Amino acid sequence: MTHQDGVGVPDGLDRLWTPHRMAYIRGENKPSDGTPRECPFCRIPTLDDEAGLVVHRGDTAYVVLNLYPYSPGHLMVCPYRHVADYTELTDAETIEVAGLTRAAMRVIRSVSGAQGFNIGMNQGAVAGAGISAHLHQHVVPRWAGDQNFMPIIGRTKTLPELMSETRQLLAGAWA
Ligand SMILES: [Zn+2]
Repeated sequence: MTHQDGVGVPDGLDRLWTPHRMAYIRGENKPSDGTPRECPFCRIPTLDDEAGLVVHRGDTAYVVLNLYPYSPGHLMVCPYRHVADYTELTDAETIEVAGLTRAAMRVIRSVSGAQGFNIGMNQGAVAGAGISAHLHQHVVPRWAGDQNFMPIIGRTKTLPELMSETRQLLAGAWA
């Protein structure tokens, strides 16, 4: 399994189901610099879907499960290109990132009954971007009380199994 740490600084969402974010909080797996060679969002598309937790691949952007989710099913939409700032996206990338964000919402809703979403990108380390060199749009499902939408799996399986099953569920629902 690959490593990511794109979730940014801890905030109020930390009270959610996030035991494994300890790895992030401890600062593990941080890229050593901002180059594409060190960038997890450049590396992930080179892996197979299972290893990279890729849910969907588009023409200019892809959708990946966040390894350090704020909530179960937390996805990220990333352009393949190593660009940091939203203003650097081409029109085609902008349209596809938007389209994949909407598709991600539909898919998450269909499999989990999410009642709401937090959507957005942290632009720059100062704004909380964990990997500021490669922009990524967060799609974070929310529930009233933010209960785990897979309580049985969540309580009985190890994290890699849980992430793998979540990926499979979302990829399968992505029509
Ligand atoms: Zn990159």
